[in-house]
Amino acid sequence: MRIVETDVLLVVDVQVDFLPGGALPVPDGDAVVGPVNALLATFPHAVLTQDWHPAGHASFHTSHPGGEPFGTVAMPYGPQVLWPEHCVQGTPGVAFAPGLDVARAELVIRKGYTHAVDSYSAFLEADRTTRTGLAGYLRERGFTRVVLCGLATDFCVAWSALDARAAGFETVVVEDAVRGIDRDGSVAAWARMAAAGVGRVRLAEIMAGRTAAAP
Ligand SMILES: [Zn+2]
Repeated sequence: MRIVETDVLLVVDVQVDFLPGGALPVPDGDAVVGPVNALLATFPHAVLTQDWHPAGHASFHTSHPGGEPFGTVAMPYGPQVLWPEHCVQGTPGVAFAPGLDVARAELVIRKGYTHAVDSYSAFLEADRTTRTGLAGYLRERGFTRVVLCGLATDFCVAWSALDARAAGFETVVVEDAVRGIDRDGSVAAWARMAAAGVGRVRLAEIMAGRTAAAP
């Protein structure tokens, strides 16, 4: 895959709480840091996302009487998975992963800050109507292809990829620079992304393209 000036790397939620030992650990989540750093060193442009919840956020099981972690509750916008408290503003867990090379990020977009609405997607909150502004930003910058990596495959990466595609961007996920929360959920997420026209590429294909394109 040859990288061009109109490509943007979208690094999704590589944050302390999603790593092993964090509040909502993605299995093997820390394994993405190396590949993501390689991508950050390669792409001409990069945007990072951060899950960024206020205390007492509606997606936390502790915000619902009798709510169990990984249970489901009916919200006005549809079913909502209930999560352990994670990525709370002002806590250490909300920070980017140690060792993540954030220096070249041109934008950090935060999501999930609306108290009563979750936001897996970097583009649209879970009510499916409230926009984060990211699509407009990417369009104004002239980007035409969004290349995604990060955490987690079956939630924030998939929802962001599907919304990038729906917003009209060519969309590709780097399959060895993501990790999922649930194996079956990740299989289903890959199927949904494929059906929507989201491409899938390996890190080595990107690096090979970079080598071929070098002067
Ligand atoms: Zn969250």
